[in-house]
Amino acid sequence: MNILIIGAGGFIGSNLSEAILNQRKDWNITAIDISSAKIQSLLGRPNFNFIQSDILTDFDVVENAVRNCNVVLPLAAIASPLMYVQDPMKVFELDFEANLRIVKSAAQYKKRVIFPSTSEVYGMCADEAFDEENSCCVTGPICKQRWIYSCSKQMMDRVIYALGIRDGLDYTLFRPFNWIGPKLDDITNPQYGSSRVVTQFLSNILHGRDLNLVDGGNQVRCFTYISDGVDALIKIIENNKNSAFRQIFNIGNPKNEMSIRDLAHKIKDLALNYDKVKENAMNVKIVDVSSGNYYGDAYQDVNKRVPSVAKAESLLGWTPSVNMDELLANTMSFYFK
Ligand code: NAD
Repeated sequence: MNILIIGAGGFIGSNLSEAILNQRKDWNITAIDISSAKIQSLLGRPNFNFIQSDILTDFDVVENAVRNCNVVLPLAAIASPLMYVQDPMKVFELDFEANLRIVKSAAQYKKRVIFPSTSEVYGMCADEAFDEENSCCVTGPICKQRWIYSCSKQMMDRVIYALGIRDGLDYTLFRPFNWIGPKLDDITNPQYGSSRVVTQFLSNILHGRDLNLVDGGNQVRCFTYISDGVDALIKIIENNKNSAFRQIFNIGNPKNEMSIRDLAHKIKDLALNYDKVKENAMNVKIVDVSSGNYYGDAYQDVNKRVPSVAKAESLLGWTPSVNMDELLANTMSFYFK
């Protein structure tokens, strides 16, 4: 099978590519990204062909790669909350417009698409656990620009679904719930809000900066270790008995439910175990900050985000297995050892 991974140099793409090369000698990967920093160790390996390319401009390269694959995973996107409020048009142009072009090519050339939706599409849905078939997608007013990410992804989901009906597109949508692990974000970048929450806390500790609890840190998230996420993706690619055909799957770990406040305290305590950051960890404080001050007025948050994974369990035979302690230990060892 020829697999095209666009955004292969990112967190999910790099971990997925490595797992495929280690587990599936019969699969070939064509990897497209603007950066190869996280996949240096994969370059030159058999079955791995890297093309450095920008999907915002190199349309022919991307179209040609789609034409030559069996399945495409378009993973290139901006997934940083700070960018949703600072440069919403850039988010729209990459996450929606550039990805729409790829998905339409896949429909034209009859290729299978495995597309990353997001837990953010459920937005402020009040359900106890989000369900792929019944939960509503609830976003805020237009002036809260942070929703442009959620809406871009939701619209991609709807277009892909519609292409399935109109053009017979073969697709699977997967919705990651806070996947965490090695190679997530570059924590040497000290900018506030530029990383996802776990790596933001690690970065702050590395730089001796306080950990900020935005609006009290009472927001609850379910953290999912990257190897569990990658296992689910490999099952989706395998598609045994066509079990992933035109399905939407939440891929998250409902057992790893934790508030951001508890997460900050846990990370600060665990950081004491690493010589590299021990002293900083003793000195940094956990402080409250309003979302307006941290992200700007265009921000709005989601209180609780818990997935139902019943569908992934029954159709894919997938269950997440890495608990919160292991997830944090593995991730912190990667960054601090
Ligand atoms: P990431 O930011 O780590 O990786 C994105 C990759 O895309 C980067 O390597 C980047 O260099 C590349 N890229 C950006 N612009 C590009 C361009 N113009 N041309 C070519 N490549 C470009 O993101 P990730 O965490 O790996 O996420 C992958 C996908 O999964 C995204 O669509 C994201 O929205 C979605 N997702 C991720 C999570 C999560 O928990 N990590 C949660 C929900 C959804």
